[in-house]
Amino acid sequence: MKHNNILNSLGPCGLNCSKCFAFKNGAIKQLSLELKENLGNFDIYAKRFVELLDELIFKKYSDFKEILNHFSNVECNGCRKDECKLFLSCKVKHCSKDQTVEFCFECSEFPCSKHGFDEHLEKRWLSIQTKMRKIGVEGYYNEIKNLPRY
Ligand code: SF4
Ligand code: SF4
Repeated sequence: MKHNNILNSLGPCGLNCSKCFAFKNGAIKQLSLELKENLGNFDIYAKRFVELLDELIFKKYSDFKEILNHFSNVECNGCRKDECKLFLSCKVKHCSKDQTVEFCFECSEFPCSKHGFDEHLEKRWLSIQTKMRKIGVEGYYNEIKNLPRY
């Protein structure tokens, strides 16, 4: 059994939920909330800055704010506690339960074709799981825990 903080962060596919933009307690959400708070009523100033500073970039502020609001309102609890909001075709979460493994590399069928991933994600899954098998889950987690997911 791995440490809880590892299992709360890494899904059975090995992707790091804690660095996902949709993760409720993730840095992307927390920093977006902080940025929103610090921007206050910047909407008004963004409009003024287009004229005052002749900075057309501020015309795009509402688009930026829409994304910031989106990042600030996400609510996913991670793959092991919630349903994934991103990879709707993923079969790994339920399959790994059926196979009674915490990660795919521990499964006797690995590497399989049951994952439900597209080509890009399949490559990433294979590379993560192969690395985990080589250096262990804890070693893998320590290598990536402070890196961006994207
Ligand atoms: S389960 Fe899916 S949406 Fe939720 S944090 Fe993990 S990768 Fe992101
Ligand atoms: S069958 Fe495939 S998707 Fe399911 S747990 Fe095993 S390796 Fe993972």
